[in-house]
Amino acid sequence: MDKYDAVVIGAGNGGLVAAIRLLQGGAKVLVVEKHNLPGGFATSFRRGRFEFEASLHELNDFGPADNGGDVRALFDSLGVTDKIEWTPIPEAYRVIARKEKLDVTMPFGVKAFIDKMEKEVPGSRLSTERFFQLADDTRAAQKYTNERNGVVESSVMVKEYGNYVRTGSYSVNEVLDSIRMPKKAQDILRAYWCYLGAHCDDLSFSHYASMVIRYISRGAMMPKMRSHEISLALCERIRELGGEIWFNTEAVKIETGADGGVEGVILDDGRRIVTRHVVANCSPLVVYGRMMDGVPEKIVRATNARKLAGRGFTMFLGLNKSADELGIENHNYFLYDTMDSAAQYEIMKKIDTNEVQATVCLNRAYPECSPPGTSMMYFTTLYMSDDWGNVKPEDYAKTKEKVANKMIDRFERDTGAKIRDSIEEISVATPMTYARYCGHPEGGIYGYESQYWDGLNPRLQMMAHDHMTRGLRFAGGFAMRLSGYSSAYFSGDISGRQTVGDIKKEG
Ligand SMILES: Cc1cc2nc3c(=O)[nH]c(=O)nc-3n(C[C@H](O)[C@H](O)[C@H](O)COP(=O)(O)OP(=O)(O)OC[C@H]3O[C@@H](n4cnc5c(N)ncnc54)[C@H](O)[C@@H]3O)c2cc1C
Repeated sequence: MDKYDAVVIGAGNGGLVAAIRLLQGGAKVLVVEKHNLPGGFATSFRRGRFEFEASLHELNDFGPADNGGDVRALFDSLGVTDKIEWTPIPEAYRVIARKEKLDVTMPFGVKAFIDKMEKEVPGSRLSTERFFQLADDTRAAQKYTNERNGVVESSVMVKEYGNYVRTGSYSVNEVLDSIRMPKKAQDILRAYWCYLGAHCDDLSFSHYASMVIRYISRGAMMPKMRSHEISLALCERIRELGGEIWFNTEAVKIETGADGGVEGVILDDGRRIVTRHVVANCSPLVVYGRMMDGVPEKIVRATNARKLAGRGFTMFLGLNKSADELGIENHNYFLYDTMDSAAQYEIMKKIDTNEVQATVCLNRAYPECSPPGTSMMYFTTLYMSDDWGNVKPEDYAKTKEKVANKMIDRFERDTGAKIRDSIEEISVATPMTYARYCGHPEGGIYGYESQYWDGLNPRLQMMAHDHMTRGLRFAGGFAMRLSGYSSAYFSGDISGRQTVGDIKKEG
């Protein structure tokens, strides 16, 4: 019988970071991953002469060495920063919206962003400055909450982080209205909303603001060899610290004892691993619904109360011409029907109506990412309902093709670039692909949706109450920091450290 202090189920972003934290805390750790390679969504794949990034558009909050962000600080302390070769993303985004006839490219850097906004929307300067001030206060408050594992002093919150307390329970739209930001400036500033997958009437201001400032103040980065390079660096570090990673190994059961707490993990080959601590990098729906017996009703209710976030669809193109030749000007495009995010969210519920895309041409950040004279693009959209669940098996291929075609048409029409005739490789991932690859219900790629009542603030501050099963903690997109690369890394950091604390308490 194998015995470990902790077993990490899943080698995605959250699981890998949790494993390093556990090892740094002196624990004997096993990571089990059902695939033959690490990373979960953080991976790459080859088609012909192209190596495609599977998910990452850009990593925020890393920053250059002289302006490092929280993710760089995390990676430094994990000991992985220097194992990865980074390349900066040239500009924040180009947002195009049909209804508002918007087509604006925004830069990184708070001052440059505010200046550009003033140029696009004269009279917006004061409100944009106010936004960044509130966002900075929010970031500081979240750092404090993280460091205290969610157990914060309310007197400190009120005294030191007053702006955070004042704005914390309001939506993005409510706060932007209250600081009298002109409508067009709001539209431009809201462009990142699809990265969080909840519309701006529902999305808490502090969640959105802390993401925006992490992008704008420090810029964004990409590992040259795609996100796979980060996943490999994290694995190397786990091994350096004496941890074990078993690939092609699925955890099928978490065994519990009389107190309902963790006693062991059963693998797909029937092996039993003895452990009293599990960090699960998969969804609570799968863990409580499939991997554990006798789950108390309270936990079932709490798990089912949460709303699944967007289901992913991505088209990857390898093009036999360079970005310059094709007229692809930017790295990062957001193409919307409307900047009214609540209305856009509704349209994104159906396959037939959804035409939103967040599109990347990696060559604009790293020209050598594909062979000379070629370029590479990936186009992602989210479905805000399980409409792909309604597609009959016999219609699957043609539905995929229809959506891919719409994406190409829309990109050509909105940007003027001509790509269709230069496609050398094409690959498409649907919610079915994502459900199968990472095991997340309905092919969700963003964990649980950030909701008014269940957003970043409540989750950070309810961490202690969310710990409902002895020995079981979660890391990754379904955990307390919600979805996204940096959030998944941070949740791994928190859950790993908390589990070290649990182990120490047990003695
Ligand atoms: C197309 C796309 C674009 C995206 N773009 C961005 C972006 O630009 N910026 C950003 O911040 N985020 C982006 N995201 C979201 C980001 O990729 C995820 O939030 C993040 O990677 C989730 O990490 P995770 O820790 O939850 O692990 P996951 O990636 O969900 O991985 C979970 C791992 O656990 C394994 N596993 C599950 N069950 C078991 C089991 N029973 N036994 C063993 N192993 C198991 C899976 O195989 C998988 O490897 C994107 C996602 C996609 C798909």
